[in-house]
Amino acid sequence: MKFSELDLKPEILKAVTNMGYEDLTPIQEKTLSHVLNNRDLLARAETGSGKTAACGIPLVQMIDPSINAIQALILVPTRELALQYVGEIDKISRFTDVAPFAMFGGFSVDIQKAKLRDGVHILVATPGRLIDFLYRIRSIDLSGVRTLVVDEADEMLKMGFIEDIDFIMSCLIHEHQTLFFAATMPEEIDRLIKTYLKEPVRVELNKEQVSPQSLAHHFQYTGRGDRLNILITYLKKEEISQGIIFCNSRHHAEKLIRELEGRFKSIGYIHGGLDQPRRTSIFERFRRNKISLMVATDVAGRGLDFSHVSHVINYDYPSGLERYTNRTGRTGRMGRAGTAMTFVTDRELKGLQSLFNTNRIDPVWHGTIPSLQAFSKQNRRRDDKKYAKKRARPAPQSRRLSNNGNDPAKGERWNRQGDLGETRAPIS
Ligand code: ADP
Ligand code: MG
Repeated sequence: MKFSELDLKPEILKAVTNMGYEDLTPIQEKTLSHVLNNRDLLARAETGSGKTAACGIPLVQMIDPSINAIQALILVPTRELALQYVGEIDKISRFTDVAPFAMFGGFSVDIQKAKLRDGVHILVATPGRLIDFLYRIRSIDLSGVRTLVVDEADEMLKMGFIEDIDFIMSCLIHEHQTLFFAATMPEEIDRLIKTYLKEPVRVELNKEQVSPQSLAHHFQYTGRGDRLNILITYLKKEEISQGIIFCNSRHHAEKLIRELEGRFKSIGYIHGGLDQPRRTSIFERFRRNKISLMVATDVAGRGLDFSHVSHVINYDYPSGLERYTNRTGRTGRMGRAGTAMTFVTDRELKGLQSLFNTNRIDPVWHGTIPSLQAFSKQNRRRDDKKYAKKRARPAPQSRRLSNNGNDPAKGERWNRQGDLGETRAPIS
């Protein structure tokens, strides 16, 4: 996408063109409209991806220079970054009447005071000096701030600024937009986000690098006929803040939703057969956490960013490794903990080992652990019928690290009843 295709003020487009920017970088493309739409935002992307302009361009666009007030406040961890940030905004706003200014420690308070009196629209500040101004010097008015940006949030945390940011954020009690930029999302930042951001849009680049580490891969070996009961038990027992249950077809999805609707509150379903308004409506309700469980097919689920999903359940086994990755990638995002639960029946066992190998999965088994050995390459050509019975039987007891007090001899029975005792064991 090109800057010339956007609805930017001509002065801004001219400046951006002067800077040599023609195409938006991926992070700019993904965040710009959200910033302009006044959404709260959480953007994760590595350094050097163009986050400064991703924020700076829409901010300059939104400022009303006829109002003499700090309308945007940008927090950065260091003086260097403050200068760099304000330098970029200076360039973007060059042909406008927008006044940016950087404020940081180790520089004359009097000059900074005078500058603020003169009129500043966009203030870039390090937390320490800003707090000085708020607390001690008391000569700064943030009541006109419409956008608060926390840049390099993870870096701020490392430098021990988290309490300062917390304090500054708690000072902005009026309605405003909050944008967080970071390369990683540690837990403490997550707490701030939960406290201060309203339904943030989450944009993350290079998510493949992070999601697998925070994602636990659970598996349940089951017969086809038992799946529904096991699913119901699982949904009741597991602490699911939000979950997506994947089916392989519309037909399956509709059948499943009929089974679950009476049993669970705030549940919805989505598949390619629904018209666009209904799809949009359910996505929006899901995004706003009005729906906690969503039955979905792959077509409908692709490419959507649902950040609060704690569980992805593959009720129907995903066909293909990529599909497994796509589906399970809906949880465990931004470094949060996520759980993928996949139901496996006999007919899917064959491909399981290669899924584990390719995706480097260390599976957590619930209930009976099937023997994958019987399905390894050298045995694959053996008589299937002969192995069919063996497969259905529970694995030897030594493999089961825990069976939650059930009688191992009744493995198949407690499997059917939906026992979900967690077992982690190596798969041969
Ligand atoms: P980050 O904040 O992610 O570290 P920066 O905003 O500092 O990244 O941008 C990194 C570099 O990319 C800077 O030199 C900046 O001038 C340049 N840059 C940013 N946006 C564009 C663009 N759309 N086209 C070309 N270069 C860009
Ligand atoms: Mg940056």
